[in-house]
Amino acid sequence: MRKECNIIRDLLPLYAENMVSPDTADFVEEHLKGCASCKQEYERAKEPQPVREDSGAAPLLNLSRKLLYKRVQTVAVTALFVAALLISAFAALDAPLYLPYSEDLITMEPLGSSGMVLTFNEEVTDFRYRVYDDPDGGDFCYCDIEVWTSLWDQWFSQGKGSLSVAVTENHAKPMIAVYLPNDGTEDICIGKYEPNSENPITKDGCQINRITLPRLALGYYSLFAAAALAILGILWVLAKKKPKLRVWIERIGFYPAAYLISHCIVSGISWSSYSLPRDFSLILFLSILLYSGLLLAHNIWRLKREIKEIHG
Ligand SMILES: [Zn+2]
Repeated sequence: MRKECNIIRDLLPLYAENMVSPDTADFVEEHLKGCASCKQEYERAKEPQPVREDSGAAPLLNLSRKLLYKRVQTVAVTALFVAALLISAFAALDAPLYLPYSEDLITMEPLGSSGMVLTFNEEVTDFRYRVYDDPDGGDFCYCDIEVWTSLWDQWFSQGKGSLSVAVTENHAKPMIAVYLPNDGTEDICIGKYEPNSENPITKDGCQINRITLPRLALGYYSLFAAAALAILGILWVLAKKKPKLRVWIERIGFYPAAYLISHCIVSGISWSSYSLPRDFSLILFLSILLYSGLLLAHNIWRLKREIKEIHG
């Protein structure tokens, strides 16, 4: 249906009741002459109808409903935008700042014959560790340790004291504690725990040669988003003569766009991440917010155009 038809349809109930100005009546008549489907609609409107509460005020209601709708959407867009902004700020403040290794960063103490206690110095505001058997089948296990702080913690968690954790191993195997600097440099062995020995914590046999690489999955997701965006862009160009299809392509295309923007906000332009789960969930969360914002902005823009057309 053409745009003009929509306007005519809105006016028909008023026209049928002779409630329009002569100019509007001329406009409607002119259109009815050339448009069979609106003419049909008009014939139907002229027939006596069961009384409907909104029949006479339909076009006005329609317009004021649209205006209200637009106002509500504007408020929602603003709220979403502010929320996205706050979350981005929090993401930046909460991003882990991995600490370079130093002798006094972590101290190891034996915990009977069941494991060890790690104590971190006060710089450390958060940590993560993972115990796993030697992947090459040796009769010992590794304990990978990551420690970090964040701007947020540096500003707001002063003087919380030092953190410590008991790391136990059920099979009384030796455990090699490895520090992951997460900055692209080599992992560092900080000590070895030998159960049932006189000196359970040693630095003997503490030899590793490996680098923990950042996880690249985020890069793949972004590539995927960029590819989707490119394909939708091509479809959009091809759909030049199908405005309805175009609107849907725009609506779908906002998501990969929102995802890419969120990726840049959370991880910068880097494609790798040392804290994948955190980064990914933040990106998802932010992208959904942004997506809703973009959809609403798109709707408002389209409504604005429509309202402009109705106003003439
Ligand atoms: Zn028409």
